[in-house]
Amino acid sequence: MTLQLSDPDLLRSQAYVDGAWVDADSGATFPVVDPATGDAIAQVPRMGAAETRRAIEGAERAREAWAALLAKDRARLLRDLADAMLANADDLAAIMTAEQGKPVGEAKAEVAYAASFFEWFGEEAKRVYGETIPAPMPERRIVVLRQPIGVTVGITPWNFPSAMPTRKAAPALAVGCPMVLKPAEQTPLSALAVAVLAERVGIPAGVFSIVTGDAEDAPLIGGEMTSNPLVRKLSFTGSTEVGKLLMEQCSRTVKKVSLELGGNAPFLVFDDADLDDAIAAINVAKYRNAGQTCISANRVLVQAGIHDAFVERVVELSKTVTVAPGFDPAATIGPLIDEPALAKVARHVDDARARGGEVLLGGGVHEQHGRTFFLPTVITGADMSWQMSNEETFGPVTAVHRFEREEDAIRIANDTPFGLAAYLFSRDHARIWRAGEALDYGMIAINTGFISAAEAPFGGVKESGIGREGSHHGIEDFLELKYMAWAGIR
Ligand code: NAP
Repeated sequence: MTLQLSDPDLLRSQAYVDGAWVDADSGATFPVVDPATGDAIAQVPRMGAAETRRAIEGAERAREAWAALLAKDRARLLRDLADAMLANADDLAAIMTAEQGKPVGEAKAEVAYAASFFEWFGEEAKRVYGETIPAPMPERRIVVLRQPIGVTVGITPWNFPSAMPTRKAAPALAVGCPMVLKPAEQTPLSALAVAVLAERVGIPAGVFSIVTGDAEDAPLIGGEMTSNPLVRKLSFTGSTEVGKLLMEQCSRTVKKVSLELGGNAPFLVFDDADLDDAIAAINVAKYRNAGQTCISANRVLVQAGIHDAFVERVVELSKTVTVAPGFDPAATIGPLIDEPALAKVARHVDDARARGGEVLLGGGVHEQHGRTFFLPTVITGADMSWQMSNEETFGPVTAVHRFEREEDAIRIANDTPFGLAAYLFSRDHARIWRAGEALDYGMIAINTGFISAAEAPFGGVKESGIGREGSHHGIEDFLELKYMAWAGIR
């Protein structure tokens, strides 16, 4: 398949290392595949430790001059980069749909979201203030600086091919830290397209590098990133399993880590909820990206009094969801990313059936499109013994649990090692406070399905991660405090 782009130069088949577009040392490549068709869109370099080391060394060379720029000058460059992304949004969205499968309208919204990080963090970095602290001795002064941490690395997943890289790179670059980024095997092209624009707007060589590789190369690239002493911080988004491994690897050189890991989001609907709000939210929290997001509603807990009405409305909603290739203007959900993803969703649905779940809609692959196009699926009778109650399904499957009392819902919701996002629907403000405070999650969506914004602190507790991305908290992760004790001020 040939992608039709207004600017074909945005589609790259080389990686961007230390300001140069390069092949792997070995010359080896791997195909990036369109999940809707199985066709290869591009061949991309299979890199390893040596190329990663060079990218890190380039970042180290670029570090001082980049950190020494005025914050407003870095902000201007990042603003130019955000504008360039928006100006090329149609092409960036087409590249994303081709490699990831999401509908092109959704891809375009992600490009705008991804660009917003460069704009917002550029502005925010102008306000990285220090502190003066009243000293315990008269001739003393205590001054605290907040300085860029140094060279940083990022590793990102395939589900948000543009927004995950920019959510990491934007705060790093804004405060003066270079970043070397490894995008996911399935979706390197969106990250490379951002690098094309970064180069065009004048981000200096070495400040933002992209190293590509397939699943076999990932441990080599990750191994170098987490062992190289020049690297001071890792920011990772992906599975909890890989996050734990990388954290362990980083411990050997005591690197700072931010981890945005898996979720198992509960979606609580109380009897007094506004049903329209809850249904609008499930549409986002379940069907956006075909349910392949870390904050997708994974356990839908509905109170007995509203259960049947809710289920009826979810079935009605799900019938309006159009499964089709992402370039079809009618598509509301595209294919799942790959065969292993399909196998997991199918396994969860089979397990639900075997445990007595009633499949009211869907439950299998779309007849016409086949491949990994999974049907919107609604299942009732869920409980915590089901596989899908304990693992992220990452598919368009809504499994409804019925509960009686508020305390039951909170107990079930918290019965997981994860703690990323939770949703709650109620019109009772006291209940919203009670439940909101009792839920062990980093983010609580109240009467909405939308959580993500550059302005807000995105992140989880428990095994869902460490640190926050977005907001001024997202900047702190890329800064170190330096305390200066001044004496002799008489
Ligand atoms: P994954 O397997 O952990 O992969 C994520 C990234 O880690 C990819 O770039 C992957 O490279 C890389 N990787 C894998 N093994 C590695 C290793 N040994 N060393 C270094 N890098 C390694 O996760 P995924 O299945 O692609 O992504 C889905 C997961 O991400 C879900 O659990 C989801 O909840 C989570 N997620 C979390 C957030 C959040 O903000 N909390 C956001 C989005 C997604 P390859 O692709 O080359 O294998």
